[in-house]
Amino acid sequence: MRDLSKDRSLLAINSATLKPWTLEQLVEGCARAGITAIAPWRDIVQAAGIEKAGKMIRAAGLSVSCYCRAGLFPAADEAGRRVALDDNRRAVDEAAAIGARSLVMIAGGLPKGSKDLPGAHRQVHDGLASLLPYARENGVPLAIEPLHPMYTADRACVNTLAHANDLCDQLGEGVGLAVDAYHVWWDPDLPRQIARAGKRILTYHVCDWLVPTRDLLLDRGMPGDGVIDLRTIRAMVEATGYNGPIDVEIFSAQNWWKREPNEVLRICLERHQTVV
Ligand code: ZN
Repeated sequence: MRDLSKDRSLLAINSATLKPWTLEQLVEGCARAGITAIAPWRDIVQAAGIEKAGKMIRAAGLSVSCYCRAGLFPAADEAGRRVALDDNRRAVDEAAAIGARSLVMIAGGLPKGSKDLPGAHRQVHDGLASLLPYARENGVPLAIEPLHPMYTADRACVNTLAHANDLCDQLGEGVGLAVDAYHVWWDPDLPRQIARAGKRILTYHVCDWLVPTRDLLLDRGMPGDGVIDLRTIRAMVEATGYNGPIDVEIFSAQNWWKREPNEVLRICLERHQTVV
């Protein structure tokens, strides 16, 4: 297992963690803190302008551990599916422009009014299959991120690594996994599915599960503040040969997003070195 306490290059800061910051602020803040990798969301990259964003990131010498995020395939009709595919192609272009190691894909939930979960699963498979040739052409690996089952209806109907591994089996080259401890820590099948994933793991995300969790989306904890055995999960991930940075991704409307971002960055680094 790698020693994170001595190597800042193994930390990637996800832009969601420092929500108030623009891309420019994120790049400058990470440079000041000696952090060499970022995982930006599309909103701040688009706000900066795609080309400018790529230049800014390269000029600062930062690597992009992953680009968040695209996917959201299921739709009520063909027109909706086309809109999703077009947007996903743009996300591939953006990921290529900023040199991202992978593009994170979440499945999407049930189309409005639908109760057809198997149908939504099929649409996710078919959507990924339609996008894949374009992603391959542009050299952008797709990283399927299963989300916690509480998001099945409205955000992502791929909720386990088993399901995501199955999709990888079916789709072949160019598709891998984003493992996020927050979404998969509860799964009794986790050790087996991480071992099964092997070289497919393209990016690894951490935050913590707070007890109680007060909001389904925006109450994620700083590593060390919750109940996830982050060390054990990282050991499993690294045992597959994963050697990329570890992405600290925290959605926290009532706590971390209200604090001074440089201070949040400092605490992320400290926790990364001590509890992740
Ligand atoms: Zn994540």
